[in-house]
This record gives sequence, structure tokens and C-alpha cells, in this order.
Amino acid sequence: MQALQLVAPGTIEVRDVPVPAIAPDEVLVRVAGAGLCHSDLHILHTPDWPALNVTLGHETAGHVAALGANVSGFAEGDPVLVYLVWACGVCRQCVAGRDNVCATTGGRLGLPPGPGLGPDGGMAEYIKVNQRFLEPLGDLDPVRAAPLADAGLTSMHAINGARHRLDPGATAVVIGVGGLGHVGLQILAATTGARLIAVDTSEQKLEIARGHGADLVIKTDADTAQRILDETSGYGADAVFDFVGVQPTVDLATQVIAPDGALRLVGLGGGGFPYRADAATAPLPWGVDVRRPYAGTRSDQRQVIDLAKQGKVSVDVTTYPLADGPRAFADLEAGTVPGRAVLVP
Ligand code: NAD
Ligand code: ZN
Ligand code: ZN
Repeated sequence: MQALQLVAPGTIEVRDVPVPAIAPDEVLVRVAGAGLCHSDLHILHTPDWPALNVTLGHETAGHVAALGANVSGFAEGDPVLVYLVWACGVCRQCVAGRDNVCATTGGRLGLPPGPGLGPDGGMAEYIKVNQRFLEPLGDLDPVRAAPLADAGLTSMHAINGARHRLDPGATAVVIGVGGLGHVGLQILAATTGARLIAVDTSEQKLEIARGHGADLVIKTDADTAQRILDETSGYGADAVFDFVGVQPTVDLATQVIAPDGALRLVGLGGGGFPYRADAATAPLPWGVDVRRPYAGTRSDQRQVIDLAKQGKVSVDVTTYPLADGPRAFADLEAGTVPGRAVLVP
């Protein structure tokens, strides 16, 4: 079968590889769509990324093609989504519903394994998955649903962890209306009463934000922080979701977060800020809580699938044939993909 693999740091290739053989508790999924996440670009550009000759793709949906001997509850042809967090399921964190920070498989500084991040991922004709990590999709189209496995999951998790600051009357800022941001905006619009301000460098992305519930869109320039402060009587935004994480967006996030605000640094763009334990209120006002959320829990996954089934969340998808995967990577890098690129084998 064809698979898009990371063959060396900075190099991807669509290659011929064997169809995976499944173990008794595994399911072979015929891939319908595999989303391309900006994290795949970070992986591509990490000089010492450890998992080479691995199929990329951590946003996968498709149809059950074959069942291992011990698998029950699924039938051939069922549409399924592949949950990203392949956690142990039995440690203290997992049983408490925090499987995204699994103590056994991730540990203190690592991550639980996930498809395309160690094990082979979904940018292929087939993927093998332990049956524990499949979510039924019902009537959802797997091509359009695939990005719910990360763009949906991660934004749902970040928002669920900030709900105490998203009551009616609150203002939330979404920085970066890409794959994650355009889903995050829809989740905020569907599930909170907050006023939504979307920020991006691209006019095209701001147009998408307008269509997905933003009350105000701002194209970033030197005045963006002041503009947001003016919109909130100088007090700042109750929640800020930085779905980019480069230095200018981290600066913006810290400049506009309100006292007691929820600052959520989701993007992995390499920006940062110095924190000092003293009485100064720069870079952070009193009471701000900062979180760097990873992916999401199984419950977050179910919730965002449910929102999609209700028609309240839909991913703007641009499809590419799997063989054109490298072109999709180039387009994402150029910032020209609206919503999410999905590779279709
Ligand atoms: P994307 O490329 O689809 O979207 C990025 C968006 O940010 C684009 O709309 C772009 O125009 C905008 N942007 C770029 N620079 C900007 C700036 N200076 N100011 C405002 N907007 C700017 O990316 P994505 O797939 O949505 O991923 C976003 C980030 O989140 C990436 O860094 C990715 O690695 C990270 N991520 C983190 C997790 C996690 O678990 N923490 C999960 C998934 C993705
Ligand atoms: Zn991702
Ligand atoms: Zn665990």
C-alpha cells in the first residue's frame, strides 16, 4: 500500500509499504481521510526526531476493514475515528479521565504514544489500531471528520479547561484561525456565551472566522493588543487561546489577558515569556492561570464528535490525494490551506 513516511529529518516520501498485520486485539482500518496538522511540520523540521521511517498522520478516520480474533463491538465497514492518545487506560490519571497525561505511557515529561508520533499513523491506505482507540462516527463523513481527532480534540480540551472564564459577558480571544482555531471558534460559539474575538495574520483566515462565530475579527498589526484592551474597557480578555505560539502571539496573549484570566498556550511555535515570582504585574496580571494543554481526554473526544453530529461543529476541509501529500505539506507551510488539509488515499 502507499504510505507517506518521514524518511529523514526534513524529508517525507510517499512509499510502498506492506499492509499492516493485525494482532488479536487490533482492527485494520481502511483510511478515508488523514488530516495534516501543523505539528506534522514541527515534526518534519525537528533535526533529531526519533521516529524515522514511520507513517505520519495523527488525525485519521476510515472504515473497519478487518477485525482481530479478540475484537468485539465493531463490524466490517463501520465508520470510525482513531483517538490520538494511546494511553494505558488503567493508571491513576487514566482512570480519573486524564488519559492525555497518562502516567505509565507518557510519564512526567513524555507523551502517550499516538499514531504518526511513534506507531505508524494514518497517511496511508490502511492503519492498524487497538480496538480501545476507535470511536464510532455514525453518520459523519470520515473525510470531514478526520480532523476531529486533533484539531477538534485539542481545541475542545483547551476550552473545557477554561469554562470557568467563559460565562456570558466574558470575552475570549482566539489567536490563529487555522486547523485548530477554526474548530475552536465553533466550539466556543456553540457551547459558551462569551464574546469571541479572532486574530490572524491572514485575511482569508479572518473570513473563515467570520463564518464560524467570531463577533470581531482583527488582522494582526502593532495595535492589536491595544485594540483588544479597548474592546474590554482596558481590563483584558477573560480567556485567550493561542493556537500559534510564536513570539508575537505569546506577547499578544500576555498583553491582553485579564486578571484571573485563563491563558491557554496551545501552539508550539517556540515563543515564550519570562516569569518572575515578584509583585510586578508584567508580563502577567494577578490571578492569571497558564496552561499548556496537550491533546485531549477521551471525554473531550466524544464531546466534539457529538457537536459535529449535531451540526454545530464542521471542519472546513481541503482534500489532496495521498500521492500529493508533499504538496499539502508545502501549502500548509505557505499558510494557504483554509481550515484543514486532509489526505485521501
Ligand atoms: P495551522 O497552520 O492550521 O494554523 C495556524 C494559524 O495561525 C494560521 O491561520 C495562520 O495564518 C495563523 N498565524 C500564523 N502566524 C500568526 C501570527 N503571528 N498571528 C496570528 N495568527 C498567526 O496550524 P494548526 O494545525 O491549527 O496548529 C496550530 C499550532 O498548535 C501548531 O503549533 C501545532 O503544532 C499546535 N498543536 C498543539 C497541540 C497540543 O496538544 N498542544 C495539538 C495540535 C496542534
Ligand atoms: Zn496535531
Ligand atoms: Zn495511563
